[in-house]
Amino acid sequence: MGSITELPALAVDSTAPLPPFKVLIVGGGYGGLSAALNIQDLCCGRAPRCGEPPKEGESAPEPFQVAVDITVVDERDGFVHLIGMPLALADEKYAEKAWVKYEDIAALRPRSSSEGGIRVLHGSVSSIDPERKVATYVARGGGVQTSELEYDYLVAATGLRRAWPAAPQAMRQKQFRFEAAQHIHAATEAKHGVVVVGGGAVGIEMASELKMLYPNLKVTLVHSRDALLSSEPLPDDVKSRSLEILREGGVDTLMSHRLDTTEETLDPQGNTCLRVRFTNGHTLLADKVIMAVSSPVPSTTYLPPQILNDEGYVRIQPTLGFPADGGATPHAQDHFAIGDLAQWSGIKRCGGAMHMGYIAAHNIHQLMRQRLQGAEPVFQKLNEVPPMIGLAVGTKAVAYWPEGGMTSGEDVLKTFFGDDLGFSICWNYLQLGGPKKEEVVAEV
Ligand SMILES: Cc1cc2nc3c(=O)[nH]c(=O)nc-3n(C[C@H](O)[C@H](O)[C@H](O)COP(=O)(O)OP(=O)(O)OC[C@H]3O[C@@H](n4cnc5c(N)ncnc54)[C@H](O)[C@@H]3O)c2cc1C
Repeated sequence: MGSITELPALAVDSTAPLPPFKVLIVGGGYGGLSAALNIQDLCCGRAPRCGEPPKEGESAPEPFQVAVDITVVDERDGFVHLIGMPLALADEKYAEKAWVKYEDIAALRPRSSSEGGIRVLHGSVSSIDPERKVATYVARGGGVQTSELEYDYLVAATGLRRAWPAAPQAMRQKQFRFEAAQHIHAATEAKHGVVVVGGGAVGIEMASELKMLYPNLKVTLVHSRDALLSSEPLPDDVKSRSLEILREGGVDTLMSHRLDTTEETLDPQGNTCLRVRFTNGHTLLADKVIMAVSSPVPSTTYLPPQILNDEGYVRIQPTLGFPADGGATPHAQDHFAIGDLAQWSGIKRCGGAMHMGYIAAHNIHQLMRQRLQGAEPVFQKLNEVPPMIGLAVGTKAVAYWPEGGMTSGEDVLKTFFGDDLGFSICWNYLQLGGPKKEEVVAEV
């Protein structure tokens, strides 16, 4: 990073980090990539891609360039557009699009010869030692052998562990494509239909995408409660409108039905199928049962237990830093946690994860500046987040946020998800396709 200003360090703490600052980001999903790219922007003196432009009358903050070495570690070999999973598991072409290998993401490559790119390692982090500021890393395919990754600042962005089919279990794009294709074939060849169990957002979207793409397929969504989205803190009209749209799209619904057992049986023509039994005695025949009821758990086993709540979420501060807890975690101020794994208000959303990535980036950049210039850091803080949702239901969507209330329809789908279940919206927001040609030329 030849053109980057490296200022002399203040001689206050001989153990304090010096440039190039090492930033380690664990998890390369929406939150992790946002953190990585926004840190890179700030350290190269650019406006951060996910930051807000200055308000009228305000001037943009003085750029502060500093050499940085950014590493992202992820168990998967690519960025997964998780929001698109319901469509990826109904449409093979889309499944190919929804998982992009990190090596194919232009934004992670250096923009110019003087700018380091973002290094992505395919493997997992199994523990961190905040005192020594090292993470234990297990390379994918490297057996049980571990190595250490040193860092000055750490961002934990490992999200939630979700069961298949809500989230892919594959770690490689190739394997995921194979599993998605198998799932799609099994679901769409069904003569007796598909039963989707679970009326949360994932179940609703899976059922509606299948029905939209295969109108002749019998799709039944089963939910144990009398309203969809029953565990979400959303107004009743959002839940009832979601049910209406689902039914309008041709999905059969069985409310207040709790799955009991599934067993192989023969239909009257002697064909093998499944008999699905519910605890209220009702039964039906199907060829495939898709479970969309998993309770996700935070992927935080590698973090110090004292920073987690009882359910494993990180007890973040509004700056997204680890809890200070009177010094219980050494160097807590240099550790951040963002995205789904953080204990915070609001429904877990990718927009929230990307915004948190930006805030962590800003705050880390402020710490670097403090370290080198002694300037008092001006931290950004995360506000409380009210419940809000955008739910794709086939050709329409239902959206709710407190100021706007509930809206629904085809135009709402377009606004919230575009025409590819939000892939392009997220891709463009994070500018994963890389800078425009003229920006590269200008900077070289
Ligand atoms: C089916 C489905 C539909 C959804 N629909 C919507 C929607 O319409 N709108 C919306 O806003 N949100 C939606 N969400 C929620 C949204 O996907 C999450 O809020 C978002 O993914 C959170 O981003 P994240 O970066 O925190 O975590 P993730 O996107 O889950 O990324 C975490 C990354 O960390 C990696 N990882 C985990 N553990 C380790 C480890 N120990 N070492 C290394 N890497 C690790 C994982 O491989 C993964 O790549 C949906 C979720 C699902 C499952």
